[in-house]
Amino acid sequence: MNTLTKVWDFIRNLFGFKRNSKYVKNYLNEANMRSGIYMGAIIIVLEIWLVVRQTNEYVIPGISAYSGFVDRFKFAYSYLSFYILFMICGMVLMLFSITYTRNKKRDSKVEFILNLVLGGISIFWFFMLFPLNDWKNLFPLDFSKSVRRANIIRYFTVMIFTMMPVLGGLIIGHTIYKHFNQRNNTTISILIIITFAFICLLFGMRVSYADFTVPATKLRSNGALDLYYYEKRKMITCFLTMIIFVACLLIWKPYISIIMLSTIFYVFMRMLKSYDGREFVEGDEINYITFLISLTMITISIYQQRITEAEKDQQLEHDAVYDHLVDINNVQFVSSSVREALSHNENYLDDKYFLFINIVNFRTINDLKGFEEGDKFLKELGEAVKKSFKGDLTARQSDDHYVILTTNDGLKEKIDELNQMVNNLSEGLFIHLKVGVYKAKAGESVSRAIDKARYACGIIKRKYDEVFLEYNDTMDEMFQKRQYIVNHLDEAIEKEWIVAYYQPVVWSESLELCGAEALARWIDPTYGFLSPGDFIPILEDTRLIHKLDRYIIEYVCKYMRKRIDEGGKVVPVSINFSRLDFELMDVVEVLEESVSKYNIDKSFIHVEVTESALSESFDLLNMNLNVLKGLGYSIWLDDFGSGYSSLNVLKDYDFDVLKIDMKFLTNFHENEKSKDILDCIVKLANKLDMKTLTEGVETKEQAMFLESIGCARLQGYLFGKPLQLADFEGVIEKEKFTLADTKI
Ligand code: C2E
Ligand code: CA
Ligand code: CA
Repeated sequence: MNTLTKVWDFIRNLFGFKRNSKYVKNYLNEANMRSGIYMGAIIIVLEIWLVVRQTNEYVIPGISAYSGFVDRFKFAYSYLSFYILFMICGMVLMLFSITYTRNKKRDSKVEFILNLVLGGISIFWFFMLFPLNDWKNLFPLDFSKSVRRANIIRYFTVMIFTMMPVLGGLIIGHTIYKHFNQRNNTTISILIIITFAFICLLFGMRVSYADFTVPATKLRSNGALDLYYYEKRKMITCFLTMIIFVACLLIWKPYISIIMLSTIFYVFMRMLKSYDGREFVEGDEINYITFLISLTMITISIYQQRITEAEKDQQLEHDAVYDHLVDINNVQFVSSSVREALSHNENYLDDKYFLFINIVNFRTINDLKGFEEGDKFLKELGEAVKKSFKGDLTARQSDDHYVILTTNDGLKEKIDELNQMVNNLSEGLFIHLKVGVYKAKAGESVSRAIDKARYACGIIKRKYDEVFLEYNDTMDEMFQKRQYIVNHLDEAIEKEWIVAYYQPVVWSESLELCGAEALARWIDPTYGFLSPGDFIPILEDTRLIHKLDRYIIEYVCKYMRKRIDEGGKVVPVSINFSRLDFELMDVVEVLEESVSKYNIDKSFIHVEVTESALSESFDLLNMNLNVLKGLGYSIWLDDFGSGYSSLNVLKDYDFDVLKIDMKFLTNFHENEKSKDILDCIVKLANKLDMKTLTEGVETKEQAMFLESIGCARLQGYLFGKPLQLADFEGVIEKEKFTLADTKI
């Protein structure tokens, strides 16, 4: 059974009975269209040559009465219309093939006109073919069994006679239909190739047959008209050539090639055989059959070769638009599919929505259960997405993001279903979906549409009770701003629109300056003053944050060096690092580079990382922080107490300074508890051999309390807002401290 199936499969493949994928079909179609260019060109040259060659006395008696090429040509036209018609066909085919292969959008006027011309010519061929057979002999057709074989040529001729105008009609009809409906268009190219193949075959048959049947005459010296044949029957080559053309240049499925070739050969040989007064030599028959067999083999082999190529190509293309980890397409696929669909139907996007799916807290799976489990989770979600949105375009964008293009049908139910599934899969971890929805608009690029869906998704990222949000016009302004930030980051860095502001840090005991925190500000020519809150989340979201931080490092070091060179005082500066920095750049290398370039004492740079950063990616950060510490940088834990993991973090890392989050100071007056908590945190830090700094100090009362519990450093509006460099340098000048005071 198994071998039988294999044999059957082999045969199916060999003869092309297997269904080809759409890609392979298109590939073969394109290959045919490319061949069409060459076929067209060859035919034009061939026909010009034939026409020129034929304008002589030997072929067209009486032509010598005319002198001059133009006059001769005019006279010869009546004899040559057949060739000229064929030449026009060649031209149309060539032009069509060129526009078809060049213009993927399939809406050109040229194509439209060419199609109509070719359709017209096809119909016209019908009349051209009349002289081929004695019209009167064709009818009535006798379908009785006894004469059926003899009638075969008649059937065939009638069939062709009808076929040509039918094909012509189809081409015209389809072209007009397509013109008004913007429908699929491979059909037209197939129709044109078939028509052209027919025209070629008919041309070959007609020329060869006419050559075979019309005896040439020669005037003997004695005045007798002599029939001679010796030079004749050579134009059978025309038939054979045309057949090679059609069989080898154009790719048909092998079984079609076989049927086509054998039918043509059979009919043609019968025509030759049955011609009165002409003997069809047996040797001829064997020659033709040998030719037929070799030609068939060649066409099969060409087909197989093309199919292999096409499938290889398909695989490559598939790999390029496929996400192998999750077994789903990627976003490039969505883009190209949409482009393709739009080229057939410009209203394709009218009822469509882009969905952007984000898995909130996905990282916890990786962190707690390992990457393997994380991948498994992504795969299962991928499967579920494909299943719920069957028939829609689905893709994984990156990490834990999925993109879907779908209609409004049962959208909410489908999302709920997915969310439910994720809940079940997440086994107690707080993992759920957020979905941004964007109504697709014509004329907008897919990547922009996805960005908007993503934007909507980002808005509800931290809103626990909302699963999905549709992008609306009020978001548009924010979205534009976001795009602006992403697109202008490099320019802003280059032109120093972005600068560091310095916020003073003071000793709680003496209230003298002991350092500053560098805080980025973007002073934009269009949007004006932008705070980190405006651009940092965006830069993190788009994984561009390292560009900013690399720049701030350089900025801080550069101006510190400048100031030292000018003989001014400097204070240590804390620089903020995002978790992503450690993934996106080699923080150690970048820091070391700037520090050595500007020859800065490492103890003057403090590395601030936030607590939430630490809870997310573990090993990489830990390693980096240890190296930095070893190199002599002081490591500060930012925003302590604002996240979820707090105390664990203290166990796993060694920090020099704990920056206590400013949240603890809110409603400081009323809430006795927060005082107790602050007190405990400071004690805890001291126990763990860490210094403390409290952020957001706004009142004297707060400062006094913090001093009383032993918090060493204070930072907040009470001592100064973040200041631009020049102003901050003014502050330093007024201070009386010495540099040694700023050390821990
Ligand atoms: P952060 O590191 O916690 O910085 C402290 C923030 O609190 C600053 O906001 C500062 O202006 C503000 N602040 C300081 N004292 C007071 C106060 O007394 N009262 C109040 N209400 N606020 C105070 P800013 O400059 O808007 O920065 C926000 C966040 O942006 C920073 O929080 C930091 O996480 C991030 N950030 C700023 N610059 C950079 C940077 O260059 N790179 C990276 N990765 N993040 C940065
Ligand atoms: Ca900070
Ligand atoms: Ca902070």
